Amino acid sequence: MKSVFVYCEVENQKIAEISQELLSTGKKLATKLGCPLEAMVFGSQLAGIQGQISLYGVDRIFVADDIRLEPYRTLPHSSIATHVLKQEEPQIVLFGATSVGRDLAPRLASALNCGLTADTTILDIGDHFVKKEKKEYKDLLYAIRPAFGGSIMANIINWDQHPQMATVREGVMKKEVFDENYTSEIVEVDVNSIVKDEDFVVKIIERHIVESDVNLKEAPIIVAGGYGVGSRENFERLEELANLIGGEVGGSRAAVDAGFIDHNRQIGQTGTTVRPKLYIAAGISGAIQHTAGMQDASMIISINNDPEAPINSLADYVIHGDLGVVIPKMIKFYKANAK
Ligand code: FAD
Repeated sequence: MKSVFVYCEVENQKIAEISQELLSTGKKLATKLGCPLEAMVFGSQLAGIQGQISLYGVDRIFVADDIRLEPYRTLPHSSIATHVLKQEEPQIVLFGATSVGRDLAPRLASALNCGLTADTTILDIGDHFVKKEKKEYKDLLYAIRPAFGGSIMANIINWDQHPQMATVREGVMKKEVFDENYTSEIVEVDVNSIVKDEDFVVKIIERHIVESDVNLKEAPIIVAGGYGVGSRENFERLEELANLIGGEVGGSRAAVDAGFIDHNRQIGQTGTTVRPKLYIAAGISGAIQHTAGMQDASMIISINNDPEAPINSLADYVIHGDLGVVIPKMIKFYKANAK
């Protein structure tokens, strides 16, 4: 029987956000196909881990629990995943487009001799007619992603090789609980019978984890500046506004490239994808590569001195004016009127 499989990333008994997003999307695909949703999770001390996975409507969870499996290392994880996927023969397998997913998925694609679409932003199920064969293939994975610098959305379809695999960008898919009380069957993977000593040739000697103080994905309000902000000093005014209204500061790539703001605050196709309640786009023109990362914001306010700026057609409100005038006014007005 067909199934949709999700590789869940885990560290310190916590399932990664991206894996929860993938499980939510995986459930929708599995429902369309009328097939089970399955997950694989490899790590250490995983008793009770199903509590974080089942609620997304997962029918079976393949658990490989072994102290050697955490932190992630390429070889043991790829040996176990290859074993599970060869045995289960799913139709679709999803990974996060994270450093782990980007490392693991291509290895599995090679081991299983199948395709892989990287960095997808939309997944769906559909049919495809192959002209050469005069044959229609049903229920295929549509792996959709920006291509040619974001100028088109490419739908990549793999009709003749299984499984169909994709990595998915972080923060693009919504996390949606299917049923709090859903129960999954647990399949314990016999790690020792799969891994070999050679799988552990890479030793992790030291790990440095740098916690970022930037959390754009969770921010309810983002004040984002573009090239139109003009300088790093002018960005301080945006920071002031963001602090006042309880938001984070983000930026376009042009602002990052110009050195106005750090790269970890870039929003867009090659930055972070965000969906805040309020997005203030200050001096941002609205190139597709930028809007790909913020178009799902609940409300968008554009501040721009060009009334024809493309971002304005996406915005709920447009303030036509110079940032040097508008931003100080907003700060002044907010200070005067906020309780
Ligand atoms: P500009 O396009 O230069 O726009 C500046 C805006 O500021 C204009 O609308 C102007 O009218 C306005 N302005 C100027 N002065 C003022 C003023 N004083 N007051 C008010 N308004 C003013 N971009 C991203 O943002 N994120 C990405 O992740 C990203 N990834 C990319 C990936 C690829 C492969 C490629 C090819 C490009 C990518 N880009 C990305 C770049 C993208 O194509 C645009 O170049 C970029 O988004 C433009 O940034 P901007 O809007 O800040 O600058």
